[in-house]
Amino acid sequence: MVTATRPEQQVKIGPTKLLINNEWVNSVSGRRFETINPSTGEAICDVAEADAPDVDKAVQAARMAFTSGEWRQMSATRRGELLYKLADLIEQNIDELARLETLDNGKPLQNSYGDLGLVIACYRYYAGWADKVQGKTIPINGPYFCYTRHEPVGVVGQIIPWNFPLLMQAWKLSPALATGNTVVMKTAEQTPLSALRVGELIIEAGFPPGVVNLLSGYGPTAGAAIANHMDIDKLAFTGSTEVGHLVMEAAAKSNLKRVSLELGGKSPNIVFADANMDAAIEGSHQALFFNQGQCCCAGSRVFVEERCYDEFVAKSVERAQRRVVGNPFDEHTEQGPQVDKDQFDKVMSYIESGMREGAQMLCGGHSLGDRGFFIQPTVFTDVKDHMKIAQEEIFGPVMSIIKFKDIHEVIERANNTMYGLAAAVWTQDISKAHTIANNIRAGTVWVNCFDVFDAAAPFGGFKQSGMGRELGEYGLEHYTEVKTVTIKL
Ligand code: ADP
Repeated sequence: MVTATRPEQQVKIGPTKLLINNEWVNSVSGRRFETINPSTGEAICDVAEADAPDVDKAVQAARMAFTSGEWRQMSATRRGELLYKLADLIEQNIDELARLETLDNGKPLQNSYGDLGLVIACYRYYAGWADKVQGKTIPINGPYFCYTRHEPVGVVGQIIPWNFPLLMQAWKLSPALATGNTVVMKTAEQTPLSALRVGELIIEAGFPPGVVNLLSGYGPTAGAAIANHMDIDKLAFTGSTEVGHLVMEAAAKSNLKRVSLELGGKSPNIVFADANMDAAIEGSHQALFFNQGQCCCAGSRVFVEERCYDEFVAKSVERAQRRVVGNPFDEHTEQGPQVDKDQFDKVMSYIESGMREGAQMLCGGHSLGDRGFFIQPTVFTDVKDHMKIAQEEIFGPVMSIIKFKDIHEVIERANNTMYGLAAAVWTQDISKAHTIANNIRAGTVWVNCFDVFDAAAPFGGFKQSGMGRELGEYGLEHYTEVKTVTIKL
């Protein structure tokens, strides 16, 4: 059901320029681009558009901050305090940030609040790490004293996507800053606004000039300039596997900057007949439809054991039909619009391909409302492994249900993908749960749950879902270089 979208008068927009060296500046070209409200298809405002010359300026500021001045001299404890302060400021401004996120991205307001809880926790988690990153003393042969130092990598380029703008900003900024790096971050062109507001809070928290630089702009221009830059030491990217290939190539062809990637997925969500069926149905529903289906780890291949297939299908269709779609500012809304027209068109074309290839569409399949980018929750059954909707990342509210007979068969089929980001299994049988957890090639396996995220638990992909891990202690590894110091005694 679509409720009429109301004017979003109560959202304060915040800064719309580039943040370079703690100053709000126009782009070198003077160009600006519009950011669109996905609930209406209308422009919210325009923002400064960064391109290669702006990336150069931001990198110079970040390099200066890294090599000299206050940040370089700052104690690790003080860096942690700045991150705690930033978390406090975000908490104090949570209502404003949540509304801005919902306006620009289209996600239900309650989900923006959920994201912000994780954002605040992430800054605090890495604030705590700032003065706990340490090397080792190593008993090497001979009259020597040998130890290691974990030093910051340097200037870090970070490129983030639009599906969780504030959360992806937090996942990237907090470990980089805790370990003493400086940052040039490009936000996604669809959702620049909330990250810029956090930029104001970064200044207010007291981070020195040049430590965090925020650029709004497009991928093939500003994004590519970051990936190709000769004076960026490390690139952290989250986005599509296709662009992951491009930025890794750019890193290889330029200065061999270190690369960490968090890319796409086509995660298997495996339901056994012995599962708590109500929990499995609701959990699988959320695993796919959460965030309008725009999650890299969405449980988008739902493998259901033959013995419970009919019940699972009937109840999942009924649940999808009850899903409340509409104005993301309404408190009962579970699903807002897709983020933009391109994503809307892409999802609709996958729905057409599912029908063309012979899957059964049991509900949904159409757009909703007369404006904005809303799509009905859609469920396909009789999906076969070779179909496009079972192979490719749809990134929308489209569930594909696939039948299986036994555990060995489902493990093989679940692993038959180029992706390996996440997986889930629903069962009461502990040995089945462990067998799945041990044999699925994915960076995360959830058992009788889904989308459980915590700043302390690492997340990332096997295979073409990425390289490296974010969050937790593992997430610090990419932001430090190990230096070995050997002293003759
Ligand atoms: P999606 O398809 O989900 O929008 P993308 O991988 O296209 O995912 O985008 C994720 C991020 O990568 C965005 O910030 C986008 O601007 C950026 N990006 C897109 N193309 C490139 C590119 N060629 N080089 C660097 N960054 C890019």
